[in-house]
Formats: sequence, structure tokens, C-alpha cells
Amino acid sequence: MAAYDDQNIFAKILRGEIPNDTVLETEHTLAFRDIRPQAPHHVLVIPKGPYVTYDHFAAEASDVEILDFTRAVAKICADLGVGPVNGGDGARFISNAGEHGVQEVPHMHVHILAGRPLGRMLE
Ligand code: 5GP
Repeated sequence: MAAYDDQNIFAKILRGEIPNDTVLETEHTLAFRDIRPQAPHHVLVIPKGPYVTYDHFAAEASDVEILDFTRAVAKICADLGVGPVNGGDGARFISNAGEHGVQEVPHMHVHILAGRPLGRMLE
């Protein structure tokens, strides 16, 4: 596991050094719109703690942080009206990790993509 680099762009967003278009903020989680949106809704959800990848977060974060993050994802989907459970048209959740996952920013994040048909990703 690579050490957490506190100079990554999302760490700077969390410290308020770079502006962001916030969608939701809770005690342990921040969600904001991606600067290069790939769909009408493209939200990045990040834990406030120093986690590099999804598996790092899942292994090391507290239960409270994990629940806070998971419920934030649910609230964003509900607020955007995209979650099928609430009658929305659906969404995709992606978390790129490491070199093979082509992770650009080394702070754990989940992309929420929605607002258009997203096509098949896996064959
Ligand atoms: P990754 O490839 O690491 O999963 O995706 C990182 C995402 O962060 C990309 O979709 C990219 O557009 C987004 N991103 C990079 N820099 C910034 C920034 O300064 N602000 C915002 N809002 N998004 C960013």
C-alpha cells in the first residue's frame, strides 16, 4: 500500500485550498461534482480521512466513517432522483484503484455517474 500523499488534489479540496462544487457534506464525507463530467450527473464521493483506495478505506476506516460514506451515496442518489429504488433511471458507481485501475487521484473516491444510458461496461 502506497503511503497517503497529502498533496493530492482531493486533500487540497478537503483543506479548502481548491474550490469545489459541493453536492453533500457530512461529518466524514464530502461529495462534489467532477470537473470533467462524463454524464449529466457526475459526482465524486470521498471520505475525509486519509485513505488511498477503496480497499484501503474498507479495511482501515471506522464503522462510523463507512456507514457515513455509504449513507451519503444513498442520499446523493435520492437527491438527484437517480436511484432505481426510488423510481429513478439508474446510476453507475465506480472506484478506480491503483495503477491497473487507472486511478488518477490517490485519495479514495467513488464516482456516481447518472443521467444518461451508460452502456455495458463489462462483457
Ligand atoms: P480517477 O481516475 O482517479 O478515478 O478520477 C479522478 C477524477 O477526478 C477525474 O474524473 C477528474 O476529472 C477529477 N478531478 C481531477 N481534478 C479535479 C479537481 O480539481 N476538481 C474536481 N472537481 N474534479 C477533479
